[in-house]
Amino acid sequence: MDFTINEEQQMIHEYGKSLSKTYDRAYWMENAAIHRFPEEMYQQVATDGFLGTMVPEAFGGAGLGMLEMLLFQEGIANEGIPLLSLVVGACMTMSVLAEHGTDKQRNHYLPAACKGDIRFCFAITEADAGTNTINIGTLAKPTAQGGFKLSGNKTYITDAAESDYALVVARTTPLSETKRKTDGFTLFIVPTKAKGVEMQSIPVSIALPELQYQIFFDEVELGPENILGEIGKGFNILFDSLNPERILGGAICTGIGRFAMDKAVAYANDRVVFNGPIGAYQALQHPLAKAKTEVEMASLMARKAAWLFDQGKPCGAEANMAKLAASEAGIKAVDASLQCFGGNGFTKEYGIFDLYPLVRLTKTAPINNEMIHNYIAEHVMGLPRSY
Ligand SMILES: Cc1cc2nc3c(=O)[nH]c(=O)nc-3n(C[C@H](O)[C@H](O)[C@H](O)COP(=O)(O)OP(=O)(O)OC[C@H]3O[C@@H](n4cnc5c(N)ncnc54)[C@H](O)[C@@H]3O)c2cc1C
Repeated sequence: MDFTINEEQQMIHEYGKSLSKTYDRAYWMENAAIHRFPEEMYQQVATDGFLGTMVPEAFGGAGLGMLEMLLFQEGIANEGIPLLSLVVGACMTMSVLAEHGTDKQRNHYLPAACKGDIRFCFAITEADAGTNTINIGTLAKPTAQGGFKLSGNKTYITDAAESDYALVVARTTPLSETKRKTDGFTLFIVPTKAKGVEMQSIPVSIALPELQYQIFFDEVELGPENILGEIGKGFNILFDSLNPERILGGAICTGIGRFAMDKAVAYANDRVVFNGPIGAYQALQHPLAKAKTEVEMASLMARKAAWLFDQGKPCGAEANMAKLAASEAGIKAVDASLQCFGGNGFTKEYGIFDLYPLVRLTKTAPINNEMIHNYIAEHVMGLPRSY
């Protein structure tokens, strides 16, 4: 078994370090405080060729895989920058478009998206369906002209108003009329400024540059060119995007965990209150050492999941375990680090407590850890379905 990554992959993992020389955590927090999308940083990432990491070269991308996308995302998060829009945009939507789009769609959207000229959000969640995606009510009804009229609503959609397009998961057949409950889903590429699309922001208590939105669709007219993949088979496409989302969600947590621990180690080696630095106390060392171990184990599992994904092998077990382990390890790492800082940990100047809401979010979104436990229990271990 070979755990080494090649020179190019190493360079990709270290990219975050060079990016953070210009766009560091302080820059990211300044934008988060005013909910401003970090446009300059995003454009730099585009110029450096990383937005299209998973997009084939023929469509303006780098033609690399999930492992490189993971290394890129983790490397940025290692510097304290959790760019959520990279998960939904650069990874989920662009790779899904590359995989399932027609050549016309790929040529139309992907080169522009790789250059950072257009952005996508991904809209699945609905208030009434919640975690139970099968129950979504957003419906696209066929029209006599061969198109569709889309009506319904979505909630907690990251970066929706700032995006040019939303990849919307809708039903083209209502649940009550389907043979199998996963039938009847279709994905649509919906221009966010189209007639009939309205949005309202949802204030959340986490410092993020990206805003979250409710989206309302009222008879939005869509043509065949807006359909992604096969009509009625959208659930399979959606499924294809979930493992990458889990792997990248994990990468954000392991990166932020490392960032918090690096800060804690520097502080604990320096701070003296009795005899010698506080970092010598086992009461501080052991939680940090435990968190470090769990972060690195989660990171390893995420790499395995990404590697399997790139080999075209099933990676549901590994992707789910990586997300579960990483979110828990990230929370422990931030908490252990916070304790080292004493009162200073809660100040804006040191910014350690500010890391907590983000890692805690990952226990709930993009998928709650209870559903991950359910998946592992049922699909990996063979226990009965609990819900
Ligand atoms: C900041 C943020 C950004 C987001 N971005 C996006 C986005 O870009 N696109 C998008 O589509 N969605 C997005 N979401 C939505 C997110 O994916 C959902 O909030 C999440 O999947 C949970 O769904 P819910 O909020 O409806 O919770 P509910 O479905 O109401 O569940 C509530 C709780 O019940 C428990 N639970 C539910 N079902 C089960 C079960 N079967 N077994 C055990 N426990 C269970 C879990 O603990 C869960 O946390 C975002 C959410 C947030 C907060």
